[in-house]
Amino acid sequence: MKRYKKNLFNVGALMQGMATTFGFMFKKKPTIQYPSVKKQHAPRFHGLHELRRYADGKERCIGCELCAIACPANAITVVGAENTPEDRKSPGERNAARYEIDELRCIFGGMCEEACPTDAIVLTPRFEMSDYRRGSFIYAKDRLLVPPEAGVGTAPDERPNGIPSDLGIVAEVKSTTDIATGYSATNRGEILKTETRGLAP
Ligand code: SF4
Repeated sequence: MKRYKKNLFNVGALMQGMATTFGFMFKKKPTIQYPSVKKQHAPRFHGLHELRRYADGKERCIGCELCAIACPANAITVVGAENTPEDRKSPGERNAARYEIDELRCIFGGMCEEACPTDAIVLTPRFEMSDYRRGSFIYAKDRLLVPPEAGVGTAPDERPNGIPSDLGIVAEVKSTTDIATGYSATNRGEILKTETRGLAP
């Protein structure tokens, strides 16, 4: 009789365990199939940087070095150069001949974004930057600058009434994450969005 009771208890415990497992089959899964499925970030997530352009293709960066000065981690290097009539890269007198961010030093605080008078440097929602060599984390202009067709806003020297600030407009575009889709507010976000392999709809 005692043995019979013990066996009954074991079957009960087994059923209880199976019921717990079975119950989870109908619950929403907390895990996602990264990297083919990507999680949506918080709206103000700070990820990899990008350098913006104006709609006419001119670079927004004027090589003023304010971002480099504001950076508490000394992660930014800017070397300015003069624009010439034959080779005008940005509105105004100067452009950034060299612009580098050491993403390993960066603390993604967004001070560069705040300091920039032209909304040139922006932190995007991108966070995938793993690599095997430390040197690969130094992002130069070739990797930071968006393509000419991805520019936003009117370049200051083309405005009819002087140089009004377009920061209000840019601030909207500058918001790095589209809350609905997670990735559509920036140029590189668009690139991510078109890579639909396994992405959640
Ligand atoms: S990104 Fe902005 S703050 Fe930095 S050098 Fe260019 S214009 Fe100046």
